[in-house]
Amino acid sequence: MKTISTGRMISRQDSDAEDGRVVWMPAKSIWVGAMTMIAIVFGPLTFSWNAVALFVVMTAVTICAGHSVGMHRLLIHRSFRVHIWIEHALVYLGVLVGMAGPFGMIHAHDIRDWAQRQTGCHDLYAHRRPFFIDAFWQMHCAVALRNPPDFIIEPSVSNDRFYKFLERTWMWQQLPWAILLLLLGGWSWVVWGIAVRVSVSLTGHWLVGHFAHRNGDQGWCVDGVAVQGYNLPRFGLVTFGESFHGNHHAFPESARLGLERGQIDLGWIFIQTLVRFGLAHSVNLPENTPRRKGLRRLRGGERSRSATSNRAVKAA
Ligand SMILES: [Zn+2]
Ligand SMILES: [Zn+2]
Repeated sequence: MKTISTGRMISRQDSDAEDGRVVWMPAKSIWVGAMTMIAIVFGPLTFSWNAVALFVVMTAVTICAGHSVGMHRLLIHRSFRVHIWIEHALVYLGVLVGMAGPFGMIHAHDIRDWAQRQTGCHDLYAHRRPFFIDAFWQMHCAVALRNPPDFIIEPSVSNDRFYKFLERTWMWQQLPWAILLLLLGGWSWVVWGIAVRVSVSLTGHWLVGHFAHRNGDQGWCVDGVAVQGYNLPRFGLVTFGESFHGNHHAFPESARLGLERGQIDLGWIFIQTLVRFGLAHSVNLPENTPRRKGLRRLRGGERSRSATSNRAVKAA
């Protein structure tokens, strides 16, 4: 099957998004496994309300400013512009989430996006498998495609010395914070501020990805692609807007993810705040970006029909 190129993923003649096998990724698996074990065993033993408050604040800052705004909307999609110092600070906060370095995050996002935009893709990229198999696949494995596309990061990013440093040391970036938390609040703060936060962030990231590619509310449909995205309105607040994933599939370049009435998007509010202080500009929105091929507006009853037909396609 002939594949199309997307941004940094350049299809070769024989590139195929379906032909691959799932391989266990030892480093990623041991990392998330260890964080989760520490959280489960020592979380309850070291529980205190100030440790929980620390967990909430650190998670909110790293997920909102770091992951959603810095990594996803800025570094990966270039949906707005900021000074390089601010970009570095936001991407650094994104690295502190503990998922991957900047290049690893771009690759993980872009290979999935490339696969989902073809007419067919591997089950892992589509979150098609049952809950626990998908959990193991997404958090502990990756697809080794027989013929992957070429992956080319723009030189302004791939040659950036700070990003190269973060890529080499992304796991170690937890260490200075662990030491600081140990000095300020003891082991309770280390367990809740590092292990509980990293394991909740990574598990939450998988959960949103799992449900946002299966079915749910959908304002738009993209015809002719392997995978649809869905909005999970109940999780809009705790994901800082990332759960409006149907909107993201419809308008991938938009800095704003919560587009319709009642879709509160705290990441977008943060970007608007940067704009207000003159720190961000050239913001992409659905109205000023080119319309995606195959994009179709859905209304009312059509939404559930679309979800049903998507399930039927998956079952086929
Ligand atoms: Zn998606
Ligand atoms: Zn994206």
